[in-house]
Amino acid sequence: MNRTVFVNGEYLPEDQAKVSIFDRGFLMADAVYEVVSVMDGKLLEFAGHLKRLERSLGELNMAKPKDFDNLLEIHRELVSRNNVLEGGIYLQVTRGVADRDFEFPKNAEPTLVMFSQQRPIIESIAAASGMKVISVEDQRWGRRDIKTVQLLYPSMAKMMAKAAGVDDAWLVEDGFVTEGTSNNAYIIKNGKIITRSLSHDILHGITRSSILRYAAEAQMVVEERNFTIAEAQNADEAFISSASAFVTAVVQIDGATLGEGKPGPIAHRLREIYIEESRKAAI
Ligand code: PLP
Repeated sequence: MNRTVFVNGEYLPEDQAKVSIFDRGFLMADAVYEVVSVMDGKLLEFAGHLKRLERSLGELNMAKPKDFDNLLEIHRELVSRNNVLEGGIYLQVTRGVADRDFEFPKNAEPTLVMFSQQRPIIESIAAASGMKVISVEDQRWGRRDIKTVQLLYPSMAKMMAKAAGVDDAWLVEDGFVTEGTSNNAYIIKNGKIITRSLSHDILHGITRSSILRYAAEAQMVVEERNFTIAEAQNADEAFISSASAFVTAVVQIDGATLGEGKPGPIAHRLREIYIEESRKAAI
């Protein structure tokens, strides 16, 4: 595999793309990222991801990279040069290169790295049979609304899930579910969709925002509030959302099976609506 990737203004073969060892993304995880999904060679929810990137940069007082205004074009170019029909474009901005120091450098030029990933996202085993999750204590930092590359704890939680023979972990703080390792978490009880409200505790999912809008348009009731693992285990259905998983049902939580142990009708319907609407709006 030798993709064409984008690094600081240049399209390069991936094996020739380089970033300095003094880059603060590498030394301090001083970096933010976004993942835009690609379906039929088109970008999903680009405007939402761009807006969240701008917000993440602002919250961290990080300058915009030089190519900020060309991001749509670069996304499209990577899709086209790498023939991506289905998958995603990963984008990372770091504060740039400076001698190692805890203080933010004054005049560093932000680093911009982008690459494509080709993979099936519509048809997946998880989509067909649903995911199993375990609960794990949420030990991440307190600004999860900023999409930083500090992904070590979510990776560890994912490994705990794998070691337990399941697909993912739901993170729990003060007795309440925050979100999944890389997705937002929902339960459904008596037709009502329940998900944690937005705060610094969770990432403000772009997929979440669209799903809640589509649910409201379909006259479904949405309640944004905290829920516990016990409440989730007694729910009729559960699901997660993310740019790459869309809506994926959760059928088992800490060993307790939900409903009949397969994706329920509301999660299934929301997934259909999401894929249909995103496909229409893709650019
Ligand atoms: N929560 C976390 C911790 C995530 O990492 C992600 C996606 O990467 C999400 C939620 C879902 O966000 P989005 O729908 O914007 O992909």
